[in-house]
Formats: sequence, C-alpha cells, structure tokens
Amino acid sequence: MSCHLNANRSIQCTVTQCKHHCDAENYCSLEQIQVGTHEADPTVKQCTDCMSFDKK
Ligand code: SF4
Repeated sequence: MSCHLNANRSIQCTVTQCKHHCDAENYCSLEQIQVGTHEADPTVKQCTDCMSFDKK
C-alpha cells in the first residue's frame, strides 16, 4: 500500500528521516503518534519530541 493512501491528514510532519513519514507529502502515516518531552520543565516547542519517531 502506498503511503499516499496511508497519509494521516490529521498529523502533519516534515521529518523526512522518519520511516513513518509520507515521502511525497508532509504527513505521518501512523494512525496515532505519541508526543513527549526530554525536559523536566518544558518551556518552548523545541522541548517536545515525537516519541513515535523511527529512523529510516
Ligand atoms: S512518527 Fe513522528 S516523526 Fe515520524 S512521521 Fe510520524 S509524526 Fe513524523
């Protein structure tokens, strides 16, 4: 199945290095993702991470 059919229009993403990214389009192919943080007290968006990321 092509990623075009799998693209989750509710999850926009530009991380092309992730194996769940839809290469041709900036969407995630997963049904849902988990977002977390690597900081004890997150203050800006850079403190958050997609925990569902998987290196291609
Ligand atoms: S799992 Fe996270 S990083 Fe990977 S494509 Fe989906 S939203 Fe982007």
